Amino acid sequence: MQKDTEIFDLIEQERQRQTNGLELIASENYASEQVMAAAGSILTNKYAEGYPGKRYYGGCEVVDQIEQIAIDRLKELFNAEYANVQPHSGSQANTAVYHACIKPGDKILGFDLAHGGHLTHGSPVNFSGKIYKATFYGVARETGMLNYERILEIAKKERPQLIISGASAYSREIDYSKFRTIADEVGAILLADISHPAGLIAKGLLADPVPHCDIITSTTHKTLRGPRGGIILMGKNFDNPFGITLKSGKLRKMSGLLDSGVFPGNQGGPLEHIIAAKAIAFKEALSDEFMTYMKQVQANAKAMAQAFVDRKYDVVSGGTDNHMMLIDLRSKNVTGKQAEEALGKAEITVNKNMVPFDEQSPFITSGIRIGTAAITTRGLKEEDMHHIVDLIDRAIMNVNQEAVLTEIKHEVHQMMEHLPLFDGDGVLA
Ligand code: PLP
Repeated sequence: MQKDTEIFDLIEQERQRQTNGLELIASENYASEQVMAAAGSILTNKYAEGYPGKRYYGGCEVVDQIEQIAIDRLKELFNAEYANVQPHSGSQANTAVYHACIKPGDKILGFDLAHGGHLTHGSPVNFSGKIYKATFYGVARETGMLNYERILEIAKKERPQLIISGASAYSREIDYSKFRTIADEVGAILLADISHPAGLIAKGLLADPVPHCDIITSTTHKTLRGPRGGIILMGKNFDNPFGITLKSGKLRKMSGLLDSGVFPGNQGGPLEHIIAAKAIAFKEALSDEFMTYMKQVQANAKAMAQAFVDRKYDVVSGGTDNHMMLIDLRSKNVTGKQAEEALGKAEITVNKNMVPFDEQSPFITSGIRIGTAAITTRGLKEEDMHHIVDLIDRAIMNVNQEAVLTEIKHEVHQMMEHLPLFDGDGVLA
């Protein structure tokens, strides 16, 4: 068989793009070489429906060990009692939890997508808004932050069966103990979706949802810096059955409900190559180097948000506690779409994003979302954040000036050419 140069040439082009440009998409990162090696390994050939020791296929002795190591490392990382490493993505982790905990037609209360929530938290274009009755909370107009008294009022009015805490574009700490009080007040199950800040939470740099929330879901490819994928965790409420009884009258343990919510409820064969890559990423995340990395991600985000504020940009909520920030561009008379396109020409990759109370459509938007996880993996530090904000500011002030954007692109290349994707041993950049 001839090598498929058409695809491999394109992969090489993408490698160049990721290497030469400034990657500021808040949900992206650079996985290590050993994570990528496992993700591209021979394990992709193996079917392993079921769980370690309880499979529907023969020949699972090796993948059983890999999956068990992934589970054990993940439990250690988050101090959790239960872990499922099979969800193919963050969305599928959430789907599995809904399958396990609530019925079609039940009510969910999630973070409004237009204020920073995720599609799977009840958006009408997603299964979560079609199958369940979705209600929402958002941020306060004056502060750009969550107002827990207001969320309690909404919860009391709506009486949801499931409350989702967590977001895709919220730069502030989330108080899970307050969400616990709200959920208890209305008898709801409490889910934390920590897809974005998972790495910071794992290292204790942000509040920990595990002691407060019934179930925790996450992606593995954002701040956790693993392969693309999802996970499900439980902490202190491990095995709390939430009063769910089977027809037989027996109480079903929550761990069993979640496992069967993933397989066979929502997925077939697990991706054991990705599970191996997750296991490697969890080991990396358990290391002291990862603590240094996560502290730098947070320090870089703070420095960058402050540099934007100093240049009179409207940073939603005035700053950041985590790895990201949302910039409202209305005062600069530039839309999110224009900014994303202009920055793209300068090889600075961001995504346009709705800001709270946005008048623009999701295709145009009034803002951009920026994250520091990927550029910190490349080795950039606080002092570089000032330079980056200067480049972004020049691009936004010159969205139609091709010559200026090309000049900025050359400066970006100069900045990145000294920063290899991986260090010598390919473990951490
Ligand atoms: N939940 C949140 C909060 C997210 O930000 C994301 C991804 O952006 C997801 C879930 C979904 O993850 P995936 O893209 O892996 O389905």
